[in-house]
Amino acid sequence: MLKRLQRELDRLLEVFGLQHWAVVLVTDDFEGVSAPGRLPQLGHVKRSSDALWAEIRIATKGRSESEIRDTLAHEVAHLLLADLDDLFKDAVGKLGGQAESVLEDVWVRCEEQAVTRIVRVIGGFRSGD
Ligand SMILES: [Zn+2]
Repeated sequence: MLKRLQRELDRLLEVFGLQHWAVVLVTDDFEGVSAPGRLPQLGHVKRSSDALWAEIRIATKGRSESEIRDTLAHEVAHLLLADLDDLFKDAVGKLGGQAESVLEDVWVRCEEQAVTRIVRVIGGFRSGD
């Protein structure tokens, strides 16, 4: 399965025009973590925009390959929005005070909605191949 996921990662990076990123894929036998008020996190992307490097970690335990692929697409879509995310963090950092705590939840919700919509579009493409 890891080889198929790696191929899917390469395809997504090409579709999104992110081939210049070095992305490490880690599949993990964890069930995901949840924060209060949030859905369990089944994937995570850690990145350095300056280095164009990212690590995508995906929970695999008890999940179908289709679900895992959807999580992979979700995390790559977050990478697509990395410049916006960096811009937000830079801007709230300059605003100081309560800006980050006030705006972070709104920002996270907006980014998750955008990522979900992007993945929906990619899912549509994938169902045709
Ligand atoms: Zn997300």
